[in-house]
Amino acid sequence: MSRRAVLETRNDALVARARKVMPGGVSSPVRAFAAVGGTPRFIERGAGAWITDADGNTLLDLVLSWGPLIAGHAHPRVVEAAAAAVARGSSFGSSCELEVRLAEQITGIMPAVEMIRFVSSGTEAVMSAMRLARAATGRRGIVKFEGCYHGHSDALLASAGSGVATLSLPDSPGVSPAVVADTHLAAYNDLEAVGELFRVFGDEIAAVLVEPVAGNMGVVPPAPGFLEGLRRVTLEHGALLVFDEVMTGWRVHPGGAQALYGIAPDLTTLGKVMGGGFPAAAYGGRRELMELVAPEGSVYQAGTLSGNPVAMAAGLATLELLGDPGQWARADSWAREAAGVLAGAAARRGVPLSVQRVGTMFTPFFTDTPVRSFSDARRSDRMAFARFFHAMLDAGVYLPPSPLEACFSSMVHDDDALAHFDRAVRGALAC
Ligand code: PLP
Repeated sequence: MSRRAVLETRNDALVARARKVMPGGVSSPVRAFAAVGGTPRFIERGAGAWITDADGNTLLDLVLSWGPLIAGHAHPRVVEAAAAAVARGSSFGSSCELEVRLAEQITGIMPAVEMIRFVSSGTEAVMSAMRLARAATGRRGIVKFEGCYHGHSDALLASAGSGVATLSLPDSPGVSPAVVADTHLAAYNDLEAVGELFRVFGDEIAAVLVEPVAGNMGVVPPAPGFLEGLRRVTLEHGALLVFDEVMTGWRVHPGGAQALYGIAPDLTTLGKVMGGGFPAAAYGGRRELMELVAPEGSVYQAGTLSGNPVAMAAGLATLELLGDPGQWARADSWAREAAGVLAGAAARRGVPLSVQRVGTMFTPFFTDTPVRSFSDARRSDRMAFARFFHAMLDAGVYLPPSPLEACFSSMVHDDDALAHFDRAVRGALAC
């Protein structure tokens, strides 16, 4: 065997080929392992809680496609529903009954979502919801929070200027400063900063957009009173409250964060779980707001593959599985046990670890203090996470390859998976 053949695995070969024809060799940046170093994995297949990479390694999956797979990989009911739909035709560009059924299902689960518009990605859902909020209020300003991610639309790729009330800056080259000029940033869980923004910009603010449980800086729950405060201040100023539940929908509670915290937002964005692993997302909310969307109203928004029947079928099958409360409880209790395993092992080893969990989402932050904001999250020890990540990968557990992301559980993560996780954590924290 040649030296090259010995050194180069099938995964390495795929990574090299991919890097020649795709930026960073990936279709989305975090997959490139930039935050943890090392070689990203190509995944060939998944079954239940487990995935198999291009070299045949089987790994316990806590990424679950970044959240959608609450039923695990290739759940028979989801596969059957998607296969039956695709056999009838993959896309029509016309309405189909599956859309109505999924819309009825979601509006039944989330009372604040009286009407819904399907789109293909979370980015599109939030971008469209912001357009609607601006149209409905006749205002331009959007308040968002540092460390929350709402997709990659230009107006939401903004980072904070030097003070609460100063202009935001583009968070990526290519985003025009003019496009983020109406996007105002506040620290997560900082109601005072939000109050200050309303004092300065007052009735120019169309909407406050928030991940009701932040997942994109790692899992950061809302402090008691934070979401209630946002609801109050938006009502006082005639602005809309938009919950971005693309990640939290069906993950923190079967009815989303709005059910968990008992707060009705004006608009809600959904994605991930509601597509059952296929590209589907949505925005919805109060009827009189949604009736402003074309063709009923004049707020334009459209999509060739919106309401795609295969995605609708997979989403419906997933939500029907979640209709059995025992299924969601299984995913929730697995995440609780896993968080306990992490916290227990860290305490025994004297490793500073703050494990934060809401429902089926959790993050081990390498810090000894609770994380309440993006600046707290950034103070966690990223190198310690990177070492932990690789030790876990070597032990057969696939964690999100970044310290500022959420791990996810599913209804098919079982006792074997937990025992495997426990062994891996004990070994990884001992290194
Ligand atoms: N909003 C939230 C809260 C998200 O977590 C994400 C993606 O992770 C998005 C929006 C964007 O969704 P998508 O990646 O489907 O465009």
